Amino acid sequence: MEMDQLVALCKRRGFLYQSSEIYGGLNGFWDYGPMGIELKRNIREAWWRDMVQGHNELSVPAGAVSPYEMVGIDTTIILHPQVWKCSGHYDLFHDMMQTCRQCKRLFRADHVGEMLKESAWAKALAEATGGDVSTPNSEGLLKWAKSKGKKLAPGLALVRAPEVTLASLAKHLEQASTSGLSFKGLLQHLATEQPAETGLQTPCPECGGDLTEPREFNLMFETHYGAVRDESNKAFLRPETAQGIFINFKNVVDSTRVRVPFGIAQMGKSFRNEITPRNFTFRSREFEQMEIEFFCHPSTSARWYRYWRDRRYRWYVELGLAGDRLRLREHEQEELSHYSCGTADIEYAFPFLPPGEFGELEGIAHRGDFDLRSHMEGKLVRKGDELVVESDEEGKPRYRGSGKDLSYFDDLAKERYIPHVIEPSAGADRATLAFLCEAYREDAAPDENGAMKPRTYLKFHPRLAPIKAAVFPLVRKDGMPEVAQEIYTELKRHFNVMYDEKSAVGRRYRRQDEVGTPYCVTVDSQTLVDGTVTFRDRDSLKQWRVRREDCLKELFGLIVGGAAPC
Ligand code: ATP
Repeated sequence: MEMDQLVALCKRRGFLYQSSEIYGGLNGFWDYGPMGIELKRNIREAWWRDMVQGHNELSVPAGAVSPYEMVGIDTTIILHPQVWKCSGHYDLFHDMMQTCRQCKRLFRADHVGEMLKESAWAKALAEATGGDVSTPNSEGLLKWAKSKGKKLAPGLALVRAPEVTLASLAKHLEQASTSGLSFKGLLQHLATEQPAETGLQTPCPECGGDLTEPREFNLMFETHYGAVRDESNKAFLRPETAQGIFINFKNVVDSTRVRVPFGIAQMGKSFRNEITPRNFTFRSREFEQMEIEFFCHPSTSARWYRYWRDRRYRWYVELGLAGDRLRLREHEQEELSHYSCGTADIEYAFPFLPPGEFGELEGIAHRGDFDLRSHMEGKLVRKGDELVVESDEEGKPRYRGSGKDLSYFDDLAKERYIPHVIEPSAGADRATLAFLCEAYREDAAPDENGAMKPRTYLKFHPRLAPIKAAVFPLVRKDGMPEVAQEIYTELKRHFNVMYDEKSAVGRRYRRQDEVGTPYCVTVDSQTLVDGTVTFRDRDSLKQWRVRREDCLKELFGLIVGGAAPC
C-alpha cells in the first residue's frame, strides 16, 4: 500500500482532515472526521476497558507477580510550572534545530539527512546527473542550475553562484586523493560556495539554502494564566500526561483503598512544538497519549517491567497488529537512563518509512523511583500561614521538587519506601494510524452485476471498527425499508450501526467496506417470505441468512463473541 492511497481514503471517507484546511491548513495539527473519531474512540475505549476497568479480566501473561489494582485519573493540561522544572522538561526537553537562511524554514537537525533523501530538488538533481556522481559533469550541472534548479532549489549555492561553486568543486576533485564523491558529498559541495572558508554544508531539504548551526529548541508550548502576560505567570501545555499522575500519587493513595502494587492511568491531549511534524499524524504537535504509571515495590519492579512490556505488546496483537510489521525492541544497555533497568519500544513498520525501519507506537520504561523522588525533593519552610519550598537569596526555589513526602507506607509489612514505577506510554494517534495502515486491503469482488471489480476495504478488528453493522433494504419498496428500519432501531440501542437505502446495494456494500464495517444486514424479497435477512461478512464476502428477530443475538456473537461462522 502506498501512503498516498491511505491518506486519500482517510480524507474521502471522513477519517482525517488537515486542521483548518479552508485557511490553508496548520502544519502538525489534524482533525478526526466522523469515521476517524469513532475509530479513535474505540481504540481509547479498548485501552481503558482492557487496562483499567477490566485489567484482570483478560488472560494475563506469565510474569504478573501478584494481583493488582488499576484506577484512572484526569488531570489538567496546564500544571504548576514547577512541575516541568522538576521533571526536567523545562531544561532538557529540546531538540536540536536548524533554520534555513534562505527560505527561513526550521528543521530538526537529526531529520535533515533523511529529509534530503525525500527532497524534490535533490531527487531532480539526482536524475539530472544520471546517477553518476563520481565524475560530476560540470556542463550538465550548470545547465540544471540555470533551468530547473532556479525553480526547485533557489537557495542552493550552485544556483545562486554557479561558476564559483563549480570551480571549487572542480578544484576539490583535482586535489582529491580518492576518486569520486558520494551523492551526499556532491550535494554538500553544490551547497557551498567557498568550502575552504565555511566548511562543507548540508543543504536545506526545501530550497537548497544554507542551514544555521544546530541550536536548542524547547518543545513545550508556552502560555500565560491570568490577565498579565509576564514571566511570573508563564505556564506550559503539558508535553506528556505522566506528570499529572505523579503529582497526584499521594492524593490517590490517601483517597482510595489502593495498595501497592497498583497503577494509575490517564489519557488525554499532549502538546509538543515539533520542529518538523510529518508523516501524516505520526508526528503531530497536538496528540493524545494513553499512559499508565504502575507503582510497585523496588524488589519486584524488574518482574513488573517484563509483565507490562509483554502485556502491552499482546494488546496490539490481539487487536489486529499481528504480522511482522509489529515488533518489540528492547533498548540496549547504553540507551537506558541511569535509573532504569529496562526500556522497550513497541514499534510498527509504517509504510511511509524506508523498508526495514520501524516507528515507535509505545514505550515501556522502568523508571525506578526517579519521578516520585524528584517531586519530593526540597525543604519546606513556613511563609506566613503557608508551607513553601525553601528559596534562595533571589527568591527562587532552592530545590526543584515540592518538598512533600511522597513515600508509601505498607501497613501490613510495616515498611516505608518510595515505590518504583513502570511506565507504559502509548500514543492514541499513532495507534490509530497503525491500525489504519494494517487494515488497508485491496482485492477484487463481484459488483451488483456479478463482474469482478477492484475493491478497497479496511479490515479492522470488530471492536475497533467505527460502524459495527449497516442495515439496508434491498429496494425502497414492498415494505423492505420498514423492516430494515425496525432492525436498525433495535441494533442501534447496543451498537453503532448505520441505515442506508440510497443507490444500488452493491455500491452500499462497497461504501461500508471502505470504512471497515464488518457486517451488513440486508432485508430482501426472501425476508418477506420467510422472515430471514442476509448477513454479509466484509472480509470473506460470505453471506448467510438469519431470522430477523435473531439479528441482535447474531451481531452480539460476531462482535463480542468472535468471528463469523465458516
Ligand atoms: P519520538 O521519539 O517518536 O518523538 P518519544 O520517545 O518522544 O517519541 P514519548 O515521549 O515516549 O515519545 O511519548 C510516548 C508516546 O506518545 C509515543 O510512543 C507516541 O506514541 C506518542 N507521541 C509522542 N510524540 C508524539 C507526536 N509528536 N505525535 C504523535 N504521537 C506522539
